[in-house]
Amino acid sequence: MEENEAPREEESQEENNQERVLRIRLRTECPCGSGKAYVDCCRDYHTGKRAPETAEQLMRSRYTAYFFRLADYLVGTQHPDTRPRGIREELEQTMPDMMWRSLKILSTSKGQKADNKGKVEFVATLHHEGKLLQHHEKSRFKKLKGKWKYLDAKG
Ligand SMILES: [Zn+2]
Repeated sequence: MEENEAPREEESQEENNQERVLRIRLRTECPCGSGKAYVDCCRDYHTGKRAPETAEQLMRSRYTAYFFRLADYLVGTQHPDTRPRGIREELEQTMPDMMWRSLKILSTSKGQKADNKGKVEFVATLHHEGKLLQHHEKSRFKKLKGKWKYLDAKG
């Protein structure tokens, strides 16, 4: 058996951690589970460069926004008809306690480019207060001025 000393890392501690986190985020697989890199998947929706063309894309990008704690995106993509008062404050309070693990799309109905309404059924797994939970939801989506918005959850 061989014993190796762990390679010594240059410890420039403050080696701009934020930039490093961002680099890792961009390269790695998108949290939404599409199998694509984040840069090629949900990022353009988060930056506003592109708008999701389907309800499923919006659903995935909202999941990823929960993952990265992008409250602005979540508020902005909720339909104003169903957007609760104080939603931003609520998100900012609750999001840090949710560690999102995975997203599985179970089914979709309508929600394609040419549609104005759509449904997406999914299961999202998360760690919350030490427990592994499954959030099962049938979301409804509706377009507003040509852009998909999250309407509400049924069932
Ligand atoms: Zn994605």
